Amino acid sequence: MHPSLDLIAAQHREDDAPLGRVMECHECGLRHAVPRLADGTTARCVRCGATLHRFRASSLDHAFAYACAGLVFFLMANFLPFISLEISGRVQAASLVTGIFVLYGQGLWELAAVVALTMFVAPGLRLGTLFVVLGGLHLKQPPRWLPQLHRWAVLLGPWAMIEVYMLGVFVAYVKLIDLATVVVGPGLYSVGALMLAIIAAGTTLDTETVWGEFERRGLTTPPPPVDPHRPACLCHACGLVSNLPAGGHGDCPRCGAVLHRRRPDSLTRTWALVITAIILYIPANVFPVMTVISLGSGAPDTIISGVIELADAGMWPLAALVFFASITVPVLKLIGLITLLVTTRRGSARGLRRRTAIYRVVEAVGRWSMIDIFMISILVALVQLGQLATIEPGVGAVCFAAVVITTMIAAMSFDPRLIWDAAGENRD
Ligand SMILES: [Zn+2]
Ligand SMILES: [Zn+2]
Repeated sequence: MHPSLDLIAAQHREDDAPLGRVMECHECGLRHAVPRLADGTTARCVRCGATLHRFRASSLDHAFAYACAGLVFFLMANFLPFISLEISGRVQAASLVTGIFVLYGQGLWELAAVVALTMFVAPGLRLGTLFVVLGGLHLKQPPRWLPQLHRWAVLLGPWAMIEVYMLGVFVAYVKLIDLATVVVGPGLYSVGALMLAIIAAGTTLDTETVWGEFERRGLTTPPPPVDPHRPACLCHACGLVSNLPAGGHGDCPRCGAVLHRRRPDSLTRTWALVITAIILYIPANVFPVMTVISLGSGAPDTIISGVIELADAGMWPLAALVFFASITVPVLKLIGLITLLVTTRRGSARGLRRRTAIYRVVEAVGRWSMIDIFMISILVALVQLGQLATIEPGVGAVCFAAVVITTMIAAMSFDPRLIWDAAGENRD
């Protein structure tokens, strides 16, 4: 057995027993008996260092307050003047969603859908569902469907990319200020505030406390205690560890999600997605991501020529940022995933902690590659000045967005516990 597991188990005092529970590390698969935590403390996996549970006593109230504020900023961002461009006496105004409609109007509906999902639909729904779930728990008789709604809402989290969108706006702004007068409206400041509210709500919300509250209010039945002598598994949706029913198949007793000991066909799926992303990466870099048409003549821009243009204009920090987000991050992500896939298949037992850390980084940084896509959505919305200057999106942008989405899903389908399984560290 793992000595570290005993260490944690030893801290599990009698008086903590009703609230102490078995938790499985979602990154290495080690089980821990986690005692009731004091306010403000964090339980970390003793083997890989992943966060198991961060307990904040006022988590739900704070997250609810941030969700309310976020919804107000979301409305303000949609209804207040957003950003406008003034060039030779002509003014072009854009709202938060103009870019989505321009992309759709140019026939790039796939790109319009990705931008709409990540900067509008997912953040809006995430805040809305958080408001309903946490607000519903304040009611005398909370609706029975709250746990189900919460389970679906958690899935939206990775797709809400307001912070990346803000950086995209910033890059577009710097690109435009040399050409024209850019007027920033209160709508854009509201997006900045919205970004802070979403980040604050996400970091204060403790999912385990939400499920504990559902249980306390009688919306879910208390899960049966885990029998250590029978096979158990972690629920991917709510994080509960429960015994698998006879036959090895069943649903989570707390949230109803289908239980899998490991993510199904993890390595095969991840390989398929990685190969797809490599293939898409070629047209993403060869075809133009946008074309600037000024006084009748057009100059197509690929991702790399856009970076060179920024560097030529002396905007070195920005050129470095876009280069890092659009070129370095996707390549490093693919190399990281391939390394993890190959070493796991071989059953390597070397650098387990380091490889788990690689997975953590790959999962966290992927979204930042969307900067270029968001920048294009703002440029095409603002620079629609007919003969004077027009920016059209290119098919390269569709391929690049596909690379970002495919690598994100690839990282999500890789189960890091397999790294430890393959090295013989997890014996159930
Ligand atoms: Zn771990
Ligand atoms: Zn569950």
